[in-house]
Amino acid sequence: MNAHGIGMTSDRTRLRMIDRLRDRGIADERVLMAMAQVPRHLFVDEALAHRAYEDVSLPIKFGQTISQPYVVARMTEEVIKHQQPLKILELGTGSGYQAAVLGQLIEQVFSIERIDKLTRIARRRFIKLGYSNIRCKTADGFNGWPTEALFDVIICTAAPEEVPYNLLDQLEVGGKMILPVGDKKQQKLVAIVKEQHGYHEALLGEVFFVPLLEGVVR
Ligand code: SAH
Repeated sequence: MNAHGIGMTSDRTRLRMIDRLRDRGIADERVLMAMAQVPRHLFVDEALAHRAYEDVSLPIKFGQTISQPYVVARMTEEVIKHQQPLKILELGTGSGYQAAVLGQLIEQVFSIERIDKLTRIARRRFIKLGYSNIRCKTADGFNGWPTEALFDVIICTAAPEEVPYNLLDQLEVGGKMILPVGDKKQQKLVAIVKEQHGYHEALLGEVFFVPLLEGVVR
């Protein structure tokens, strides 16, 4: 057993996951390297740890899910494309896995979760793994994190039905918001670049995320 709990095999299975991501078209070596570093099996319940390196989303507590590795990779590629962000805001901490991957690549990661128990579990993981550049809090992501704004990137790992354009106020000019938008039936991944006057929107394909909901759960 190593310090991360599951022994040699998890390092090897993690590298197999990286190979599969490469086969599926993830080309940015920085992203693949980051995902090779983060022990995904420590972000799921123990009973599911043996499936942690399959390319699937898995249930976490409170009816939420840890995103599929391929989707995490795609989102992360998009985050660092054309720029090296220094400060990022994530809405939807969940297990903390996406934040952990971002934390390998970006100096300062801020992450918001609406379900307090999930925030606490994720925070404990960040401390245990020594990820001191990630800060998280329980709040309604629809409000962003005004006291820490401006951000270079805002990434959303739950889907609002419509783009919350108010969050563009918390982005640097030239900064980017990446988010799924839609309902249970259909969602598209959107990238919005904030410009000096207005913004530019691009569609990145179909995805499926749990909904971004209002209010916090204590
Ligand atoms: N990034 C996560 C994915 C978690 S699923 C991971 O890597 O595991 C999305 C999460 O968004 C859920 O935990 C859900 O509770 C949370 N969420 C939904 N609406 C929210 C909101 N308004 N503010 C903050 N978090 C929200």
